[in-house]
Amino acid sequence: MSEIRPVKIYNSLSGKKEVFEPLTPGRIGMYVCGPTVYNDVHLGNCRTFVSFDVIYRYLMHIGYKVRYVRNITDVGHLLDDGEDRMAKGARLDQLEPMEVAQKYTVGFHDIMRILNTLPPSIEPRATGHIPEQIEMVQAILDRGYAYAINGSVYFDVSKFAKENPSVYGRLSGRVIDELLAESRENLKNQDEKKHSADFAIWIKASEEHIMRWNSAWSVGFPGWHLECSAMSTKYLGKTFDIHGGGGDLKFPHHENEVAQNHGSCGCQPANYWMHANMLLLNGRKMSKSEGNTIAPTELFTGDSPFVTKGYSPMVVNFLC
Ligand SMILES: [Zn+2]
Repeated sequence: MSEIRPVKIYNSLSGKKEVFEPLTPGRIGMYVCGPTVYNDVHLGNCRTFVSFDVIYRYLMHIGYKVRYVRNITDVGHLLDDGEDRMAKGARLDQLEPMEVAQKYTVGFHDIMRILNTLPPSIEPRATGHIPEQIEMVQAILDRGYAYAINGSVYFDVSKFAKENPSVYGRLSGRVIDELLAESRENLKNQDEKKHSADFAIWIKASEEHIMRWNSAWSVGFPGWHLECSAMSTKYLGKTFDIHGGGGDLKFPHHENEVAQNHGSCGCQPANYWMHANMLLLNGRKMSKSEGNTIAPTELFTGDSPFVTKGYSPMVVNFLC
């Protein structure tokens, strides 16, 4: 095999550009957090996936064999009020949750194809990996970094941070003492948690909650952060090369992923963390919660108050 030219990566974990060293010569395992399929993707979401498509293609171009895993979040991504995004989408559209997930997964794939991005090597769904997530909850409990209460299971952030002082907060730059001091009374189930910084890894389903699975703790569903820890471990191993995602996922999602991986096996998940920056629209982050989004199709057709004409998908890809 010919020599692969060295490449430098800006590693969010160290905050530095580093010469990339794969775990296995010539091969790379890369995990990128995929979309939550409860409504149409907007251009900000697409930008992250276009960025990682460029990275994926470049790594293959210089000679690496890359296993690129990008998940589909079809359960567990909670709204601020604690309602599952999938269940909420289902109720609004009067559809089965899986029908909603299917509809928006197909829509996402269509846009990714129009933007000329390559599909990942594996595209696992959170709902297809409930046993793996339940096993991980058990492993975290066995190692003493979680506690079960009233059918839900919470990750014990203060205990984990005390015993692993260099881990929690390193990726996102959060100071653990400040997190522990923060009051988050607006969040649901505060009374069940030992500490406000703790986060749910298994949630007992309420009567009206449609998406639910049996477990030793309750009929419930996994916490949002858990799927990526469980699926990256399953397809890339306990420690792998690159973990990517949008910059807004650094905290809490990625920080909690790191904690879960450490908490379940005592190992660091990815050696390199890469974050794509946020797309701005009129100076503000493009996000659904801000009501500040443009759909890719609107940009292609020009049918949006934000643009005066349509653009070719390749122009949009290049701009990203
Ligand atoms: Zn993720």
